[in-house]
Amino acid sequence: LPEAAARILEGLNPVQRQAVQVTEGPVLIIAGPGSGKTRTLTHRIAYLIATGRARPHQILALTFTNKAAREMMERIERLVGAEAARHIWMGTFHAIFARILRREGHRIGYTPDFSIYDTDDSERLLRELMARYHIDPRQYSPRTIRHLISGAKNQMIGPEEYARLVASPVQEKAAKLYGPYQEALRKANALDFDDLLLKPIELFEQHPDVLQRYQERWRYLHIDEYQDTNRAQYVLARKLAAAHRNLCVVGDDAQSIYAFRGADIGNILSFQRDYPDATVIRLEQNYRSTRRILKLAEAIIQHNRDQLEKRLWTENPEGDPIVLIEALSERDEAQKVEQRIRDLHVRYGYAFRDFAVLYRTNAQSRSLEEALRRGGIPYRVVGGLSFYQRKEIKDVLAYLRLLVNPHDAASLQRVINYPARGIGQRTIEVLADYARQHGLSLWQAIERVEEVGLPTRAQKAVQEFHFLIARHAAKMDAMPVDELARSLLQESGLLEELRREGTPEALARWENVQELLNAIAEYVATAGEQATLSGFLQEVALLTDLDEMPEDNRVTLMTLHASKGLEFPVVFITGLEEGLFPLAQATQDRKDLEEERRLFYVGVTRAQRHLFLCYARSRYRYGEQQPSVRSRFLEELDTDVIVTEAGLPFRRGEVLDRRPRSERYVEMDPHYYRRPLQQRRSSGATRRVVYDEGAGEIVPGARVEHAIFGEGKVLALEGQGDQARAIVFFPEVGQKKLVLKFARLRRI
Ligand code: ATP
Ligand code: MG
Repeated sequence: LPEAAARILEGLNPVQRQAVQVTEGPVLIIAGPGSGKTRTLTHRIAYLIATGRARPHQILALTFTNKAAREMMERIERLVGAEAARHIWMGTFHAIFARILRREGHRIGYTPDFSIYDTDDSERLLRELMARYHIDPRQYSPRTIRHLISGAKNQMIGPEEYARLVASPVQEKAAKLYGPYQEALRKANALDFDDLLLKPIELFEQHPDVLQRYQERWRYLHIDEYQDTNRAQYVLARKLAAAHRNLCVVGDDAQSIYAFRGADIGNILSFQRDYPDATVIRLEQNYRSTRRILKLAEAIIQHNRDQLEKRLWTENPEGDPIVLIEALSERDEAQKVEQRIRDLHVRYGYAFRDFAVLYRTNAQSRSLEEALRRGGIPYRVVGGLSFYQRKEIKDVLAYLRLLVNPHDAASLQRVINYPARGIGQRTIEVLADYARQHGLSLWQAIERVEEVGLPTRAQKAVQEFHFLIARHAAKMDAMPVDELARSLLQESGLLEELRREGTPEALARWENVQELLNAIAEYVATAGEQATLSGFLQEVALLTDLDEMPEDNRVTLMTLHASKGLEFPVVFITGLEEGLFPLAQATQDRKDLEEERRLFYVGVTRAQRHLFLCYARSRYRYGEQQPSVRSRFLEELDTDVIVTEAGLPFRRGEVLDRRPRSERYVEMDPHYYRRPLQQRRSSGATRRVVYDEGAGEIVPGARVEHAIFGEGKVLALEGQGDQARAIVFFPEVGQKKLVLKFARLRRI
């Protein structure tokens, strides 16, 4: 063996080595997390090059994310040098096949400069088509229709076949639009994400000579995370491997978490059927995690019925116990996470990049981001945008910015017709022209819309929009900021728009908007009397501009889905509550529930040394602060590897909070101000009792507790009735002026 090849084998155990050395014929590596599947794949590719069995450009490697491809590439560079590595075909399915379509797409009618449409673009296109086909977008949301069409495409069901399968009115609409949608994409020389996988299949079927060329070029094919491939990916792999049959796939059925997007665990089983002569390799030694973490992972996955038997052992030490963290609210949870990070950073010297905080839904990142920011801990949000960069949040902020500064043209353009209110592009152009001619801002043109000379209907629509903004702007000083924002969003129809769509993504967006309202309410509670809308907007603007942290050494915040394939010394899994994790929608069906459980399994097995499981006893969800119930995933665990924050062994079913129920209740619902307006109004009685009782006890010198700031001491009181304020010193956060009505101080 060449020396380089021998070195490549050195870093592997005997079974991994076998997987590397069986280079010919189909190979299936099926093994649990942290057993070195990805490492084996990486070394296998390096080995092929080092032994001269393949030239770099004859190797194809398909990964699930761009990040995974980059990491694999870096490792291979270290093993065989950058020059050789450069010519390997390595990337996600989408990236690789987009590349092929750029070269070969002309054969099926695309020029090399085709555009790739993201979901927003697709929806915009569908919206246009719906207008043409007289389908009301308020009745059938473009988002739902895109979702349905994409689902069909993922399963390789064409327009005609889909039309035959239709089973509901909305599917019927999707079927009607599916063909025209494809046609419109083609006319625009554009492909959506699904097309990036489907068009190559079309290409290969219509032009066998092209297929043959790629079959010959790629003598060795590799696919990581095979358990999450969908139908089209499966077909592509099979076609491309048909000539040489050197296809090596690695995966773990217990980590399949993308069924909701069309991934099919069945592809692993099909592999053995398609290639009965496949070499099947099982890796059993885990190199990643402590024994305790592995024990927990095993205790989790054993509750799934649909699971292949797999053993996993490790030579790693027992490790620290896993800590179960109970918090009062999501804000408290975030603060506890922040404290643990600080503590491990200071005491054990972990770098910030060693930490990952995982959550089930993107909306959860906000409270975490805020706690880390307050604590001055650098972080980055992976996948999904940072909370304040999300479209729906930007939409809401645009509305709020308009109240403060109606001349803000970008914000105006953004929301003038969102949600759709009959102000078309043409109308906006006429208004903009008028403004330009008369040296006015767009808003000023809107103010004198009668002079602009628009058709009556358009003029009326513009006037209504003007009234909506002006009416709320006038109330700005008279109304608490949070109520003002809620009222504006309600009357703008934005909340309704998201609710009507009813897809999981729309629900997530709606929750994000509720999160933002929550942030405003918190701001009001904290800033007290000084709270103004422009003050809040300024805080937010600073938040998004804050980017002075070094790029590389940050805490990672991401969804459990995004964490697949990664590893971190310290991992937090947050929001382990019923309805959140598992998600409420997933609890009805065993298969869905098992997928959620696999997601928990994936999260736990990201941890190398320290693992924290967190839940909050109340959480702001669906527009209000709600008591929450600890996740069934915790209750079903029968294991001795978990301890409570106090360091005591945790047993399932155990109530951690030993105070009397009455006291617990008070803290379950600490943020009166977070409840929606209607509820607050209707529960006037509760409000008086709580407020008056609380206020009576608050005197200068009293020691008090605040749900968020913790314990403090009252320095002074001022104002009367609803305006009564206390100046309190909190050792943890400093001096605060709090409106008693909102602050819910508890005397201790
Ligand atoms: P997942 O299922 O989570 O994707 P995986 O099976 O792909 O996990 P890897 O990420 O390849 O596992 O490996 C987990 C960790 O164990 C990595 O840090 C890797 O470098 C290390 N590792 C794997 N095999 C060995 C080995 N033989 N010697 C030393 N370290 C190893
Ligand atoms: Mg891996």
